[in-house]
Amino acid sequence: RQRPTERPSWLVLSPSCTESIDRMESVLSWLRLSTVCQSARCPNLGECFARGTATFMILGTICTRTCRFCAVDKGKPDAVDGGEPERIAQAVQLLRLKHAVITSVTRDDLPDGGAEHFVRTVEKVRECCPDVSVEVLVPDFRGSLKALQRICDIRPDVFNHNVETVKRLYPIVRPKARYQRSLGILEYAGKHGLIVKSGIMLGLGETEQEILEAITDLRRTGCSFLTLGQYLAPSKEHFPVSRYVSPAEFEEWAQIARSEGFKKVAAGPLVRSSYRAGEMVCSMRQP
Ligand code: SF4
Ligand code: SF4
Repeated sequence: RQRPTERPSWLVLSPSCTESIDRMESVLSWLRLSTVCQSARCPNLGECFARGTATFMILGTICTRTCRFCAVDKGKPDAVDGGEPERIAQAVQLLRLKHAVITSVTRDDLPDGGAEHFVRTVEKVRECCPDVSVEVLVPDFRGSLKALQRICDIRPDVFNHNVETVKRLYPIVRPKARYQRSLGILEYAGKHGLIVKSGIMLGLGETEQEILEAITDLRRTGCSFLTLGQYLAPSKEHFPVSRYVSPAEFEEWAQIARSEGFKKVAAGPLVRSSYRAGEMVCSMRQP
């Protein structure tokens, strides 16, 4: 199949709410914090900041993994910043967030993969802002059950771990990750009674059959929230986009996922793992 050269009309973005972005960015730079919203150049930045959702990236901005679709810098990470959990809590308070998503780069260099730092961050946010729902979007901790157990024990409102793509593409686009290991992590969290969420990107070269298999595999783990979004290459050096999936096709996948038993599905060209994440949780809490 020939690779598309131009973005279709449905990926043309509406103007961003610059006032919320400016406010957010000044707080984040003052507190020396990073968000995925900024580092992944997320197309929903204006909308999410205006709605009171942000995804904080803890444990630095340099990842020890080498996923070919990802905009995050790769290499040797910086030392862990012990004051970061406190500053994240401050930012959540100052920005009056309703839902905070906390994620990290993958820290294969740390003995616990950064699990303890996640725990401290969630605890600080809860101490400071008890009404804010907290979603953790965790790395695979190289499958360490000890690390995973620490995360499960703090009972995040949502436990999120993305499989990102279908099984066949793992060696090509996520060489240091393992599809089965990621499924195992979701299953582990589900067995601990947490709301479990995952997501995949479409447009990396997967077939329809493979998308269906991934949806079925995820559902089998007990995962109940699903996000499906369009892969957009961050630059020409990153893995190329194989195709642009239409909004109508996304809706078809969403219906399939719902029929498989997912309780919440966000699917669309601009959907990202944390897109409207707060609304997903709020609607689960309503009777
Ligand atoms: Fe940030 Fe997620 Fe919203 Fe993108 S979708 S701006 S990463 S909260
Ligand atoms: Fe990016 Fe996550 Fe892969 Fe690191 S592990 S390169 S942050 S997708």
